[in-house]
Amino acid sequence: MTMRKTFIKLLLVSLIIFLGLAGCVSDISVETKLTEQKLDETRIINGIEFEIQGDRLTEISSVADNFKFGVMADPHGYSENVGYFSAIFKEKGVKAIIILGDLAQHYRTKPHGLPDQEEIETCIEAAAKTGLPIFVIPGNHDFTYFYNKALKNISIKYSNVFDLSRIRTLDLKGVNFVSNPYGPYGPYGYDAGTFLKSETQIKKQVLSYFTSFQDNEIVFVLSHIPPRCQGKHGIDCNLSRSNEGTKSLSEFPGLYGHIHEARGGCDSDGNRIVEHTNSKSLRLNPGAVCPWRYNDGNRREGSAAIVDFNQEKGPSYQLISLWRKIY
Ligand SMILES: [Zn+2]
Ligand SMILES: [Zn+2]
Repeated sequence: MTMRKTFIKLLLVSLIIFLGLAGCVSDISVETKLTEQKLDETRIINGIEFEIQGDRLTEISSVADNFKFGVMADPHGYSENVGYFSAIFKEKGVKAIIILGDLAQHYRTKPHGLPDQEEIETCIEAAAKTGLPIFVIPGNHDFTYFYNKALKNISIKYSNVFDLSRIRTLDLKGVNFVSNPYGPYGPYGYDAGTFLKSETQIKKQVLSYFTSFQDNEIVFVLSHIPPRCQGKHGIDCNLSRSNEGTKSLSEFPGLYGHIHEARGGCDSDGNRIVEHTNSKSLRLNPGAVCPWRYNDGNRREGSAAIVDFNQEKGPSYQLISLWRKIY
C-alpha cells in the first residue's frame, strides 16, 4: 500500500511538473508570435491603409489621390507653433505631416523649461492631435535615448505616429520617401549619444534605399541634416554665407532642415527654386518652426511649408510664415 501511495504521489508530482513546463513552452511561443506580429503590421489612419514590414512602409489603399504634405522642421520645444501649423495643414487637406527633427532644444535656452524627452513628446503630440499620419525623424538636438523613449510613449497614445528612425522607406501612392535619421561629425552638431554615423555610411544607406523602389515614382529623401549645396540660394547656406550641408546627400532631392535661416528651395546646381514652381530636382528647407532670423533679413516666429507632389510636373512648394508670438 505504502509503495503504491508513493508511486501515485510521484506520478502526480511528475504530471504537475510536466504541465508546468508545457505551460512555459506555450507561453514562450505565444510571446514570439506577438513580437513577430509587431514587426509586420497594418494600420488604418485617416482612411489610408499602411502596411509596415521591417523598415519599409507601404500605402496599400487610400480614399482619394492626395499628394500634398505638411512639412515642418526644427520646432525646438515650441509645441504651440507645431499646433498652429498642424491646424493649417489639416484645413488645407494635406495627406500627412512630416517633421524633420530637432524637436528638443538641447543646446539653447528651452522655451518652456521642459526636459528633452517632454519637449519631443509635446511637439509630436501637437501634430498627432490632428489624426493625420505623422512621419517623424530625429535631429542633432534629439539624443537617441530621449528620442526613443518619447517615441515609445507617444506611440502608445497615438497610432498615427510613424517613427522614421526605424522605418526607412515609404512606398506611398505617387511618391516614395527615404528617411535619413543620421548626421555626421563636423559642423553639424552630432555628438556621442545622438544619431551619429559617418558620411560614407549615410551615403551608402540612403543610396541603397533610394534604388530599392520598383515603381517609377519620384523618390525624395527626408533628413534633418541637409545636402551640401552651392551658393547663397543653397538650403544649407548659413547666416555667414557658407554652405554647411553634408556632401553625402548632395545628389538627392528631398526635404531637409537644420540650417534654420536657409528657408526656401534650390536645385542641384545652386539655382533658387521659388514657390509654386514644379521641379523634380527640388531640395526644400521649410524654415524653422521655432522663432529665427532668416537670410532674407526677416525674423519670423515660425515657418513651415506645404509640398504638392504633382504627378506630371513634379513637386512644388508653398511657404507659411508665423509673424506673431503665440506662446
Ligand atoms: Zn534646429
Ligand atoms: Zn539641427
